[in-house]
Amino acid sequence: MDYAVRVSHYIDPVTFELSRDVILLISGEHVAEVITSGEVSGGLAGLAKNTLDLGDALCMPGFVNAHCHLDLSHLWRQVPQGLKFHEWGPVIMAGRALPPSMIAAGIEDAVRMLVSGGTTSVLDVSVAGDSLGALSRHGLRSVLALESLGFDGSRAEAAMQHVDSLIRDRFVLESDRLGKDAGTGASPVAHDGVDYAFSPHATFSTSQQLYELNMGRAFGEGRICTTHAAETTEEEEFLLHGTGPYAPFMAQFGVDLSSFKGYGARSMELLLGDWLGPWLKAENPNLVLVHCNYARQADFALIAQAKPSICWCPRSHAFFGHEPWPWQEMLATGANLVLGTDSLASNTGLDMLGEIRQALATVPDADPAILFRAATIKGRIAMNIADNAADLAIWSLPEGASTRDEALNGLLADNPPLLAAFSRGKLIARSI
Ligand SMILES: [Zn+2]
Repeated sequence: MDYAVRVSHYIDPVTFELSRDVILLISGEHVAEVITSGEVSGGLAGLAKNTLDLGDALCMPGFVNAHCHLDLSHLWRQVPQGLKFHEWGPVIMAGRALPPSMIAAGIEDAVRMLVSGGTTSVLDVSVAGDSLGALSRHGLRSVLALESLGFDGSRAEAAMQHVDSLIRDRFVLESDRLGKDAGTGASPVAHDGVDYAFSPHATFSTSQQLYELNMGRAFGEGRICTTHAAETTEEEEFLLHGTGPYAPFMAQFGVDLSSFKGYGARSMELLLGDWLGPWLKAENPNLVLVHCNYARQADFALIAQAKPSICWCPRSHAFFGHEPWPWQEMLATGANLVLGTDSLASNTGLDMLGEIRQALATVPDADPAILFRAATIKGRIAMNIADNAADLAIWSLPEGASTRDEALNGLLADNPPLLAAFSRGKLIARSI
């Protein structure tokens, strides 16, 4: 055994129920055994190579951030509030042109924020794989969803080839691809714990052809496909009729809209209908639809049928001043509800407790335990993380917490220190 960890309170990553006086035995990337109260007397010595006797502590599944853009982290506190999305977009494009050293420094800070907030896994939408090194160095289980976009369907193949070149350059070792023929020539560095996925940007910016290429690859390789959907009313107007502020927004990026009169459908109808329909199974947790702020009645029926993962980003939602997120309607669809932070260009932080607090401020009657599940074990489902993965966050026990819900509410109210965190069985954070 690699680690023996003793805590007073433990929340199971499958049932989400609480056990008391628990010793966890970690072997490699997994929790090999959970020993509950009274089964072991005496100390931890002898149970594993390393021991952590944390006493009054709450161990729970680490947070899973199901949507962020770490390569925009250098824009933290640089973007004025109150912009509409189509006004914010050009600011972000300007931000992407800033020097690579600034972008790298922003990512480094952001990954530290993730770790210190008890996040152990992240689904990061990435334009060029810039976050790869920092995520691997800090030990987070990570998937980089490589972003592609392009309104013109005739350029879809070229956009996909660009994604493939990124995969070849950043992820696939020549020795894996070519065996001994690879020789000793240039090959990307192996980034432990970081894998790739696919992210066509959004229905207003990305053609059906490019969605099909991305989804085909994701489906064929058993990988995540994630995309933005129904984020704004203006986006939906553009998709329906080709009108509204998104038309000049797109035109400024050189998109020719002279013959575009809209698709006559909203984004969720396109995605869960013709565009991705051929690949949909009975449940689709690896299809992560982000925002879905303006899902309407017909969309909820489609979501209930396809059961994708639906990702709410509560603080980014508030940043843009959107209508209240349709929490009850989404819950009723039976979709796999997950939470994300979105980027620091539309958020004040990357801690998932902050997202849960914002969600509860917006939907006061939401059950905090359901939000905690969304921020942890539902994210694990979206990211194909094993039930027994040793991805754990261990917090100082909130004052007076006895039951699970008291402990969770205490986390929100007291902001207790993070005592330790494991990702893939590796200790990635530790208090002294
Ligand atoms: Zn996003």
